[in-house]
Amino acid sequence: MYYGGIEAGGTKFVCAVSNEKFEMIERVSIPTTVPEETLKKVFEFFDQYELSAIGIGSFGPIDVNLDSPTYGYVTSTPKKGWNNYNFVGAIKEKYNIPVAWTTDVNAAAYGEYRLGSAQQAKSCIYLTVGTGIGGGAVIHGDVMEGFGHPEMGHISVRMNEDDNFEGVCPYHGDCLEGVAAGPAIEKRLNQKGKDVAKDDPYWDIEAYYIAQALVNYTMILRPEKIILGGGVMKQAHLFPMIRAHFTTLLNDYLTVPDLESYIVPPGLVDDAGITGSLLLAAEKAI
Ligand code: ADP
Ligand code: ZN
Repeated sequence: MYYGGIEAGGTKFVCAVSNEKFEMIERVSIPTTVPEETLKKVFEFFDQYELSAIGIGSFGPIDVNLDSPTYGYVTSTPKKGWNNYNFVGAIKEKYNIPVAWTTDVNAAAYGEYRLGSAQQAKSCIYLTVGTGIGGGAVIHGDVMEGFGHPEMGHISVRMNEDDNFEGVCPYHGDCLEGVAAGPAIEKRLNQKGKDVAKDDPYWDIEAYYIAQALVNYTMILRPEKIILGGGVMKQAHLFPMIRAHFTTLLNDYLTVPDLESYIVPPGLVDDAGITGSLLLAAEKAI
């Protein structure tokens, strides 16, 4: 039995086919342009296999509400052609097999829960700090969705007193994503995040914002594990800084797991999302 996985990002689609042991048989990366063009290449790839199900972890916002007439759609994205696009409908029309559908970060959380850093945990959060900030959660084996999916990046944070950056979120200005995602770092410091020196004082401010978010998620969900991925988290020196701010902000109010094992990088490194998509496909296969 073969499973198909799509990690649908705003820049590229990673598509993979795996066997029942979730060993990847083949994977490709396809640039995200307009839906017809991108999906044509996706279909060319999957056409080589007889798939039992496809799992999609998509950029958002997306409609995950089974009761909604627009379930399976990408909703209010500014990305040309994808606004109100019936993504699941297009896949189903082509293949007529079960399709699992959730956010890229829910898929990544699921991948980490089953085969990555959170394998021993009963619940976890996966947060990406990249072009945007988004989070997904798995609780007792289910990805967290309700009326919609979580939007963990668009939350309020207290500004650092040495930071007067106005933020870049088109909806909220200085929400977490607006002040701490990759584009915010780039605009504030006038250089790409990867080029900012390790000892630049800005990193401590970045860690302060991320730590505030993690304290909030901890208060609301009390997960067993928080996994931090995405391009900005390639700056490994952020981890101890985030843990230090987390400790200060929590101020011993709650017990949490040992921070070295609570706030961690993805065990699957860059494959959390695509692995999660394949695992979710398997859950749907009949
Ligand atoms: P996406 O969020 O689009 O899926 P990434 O997770 O790679 O992709 O995030 C891209 C963002 O992360 C960009 O804003 C980029 O500048 C930033 N970034 C990528 N690599 C690094 C790095 N090593 N250090 C700091 N920032 C980085
Ligand atoms: Zn926002």
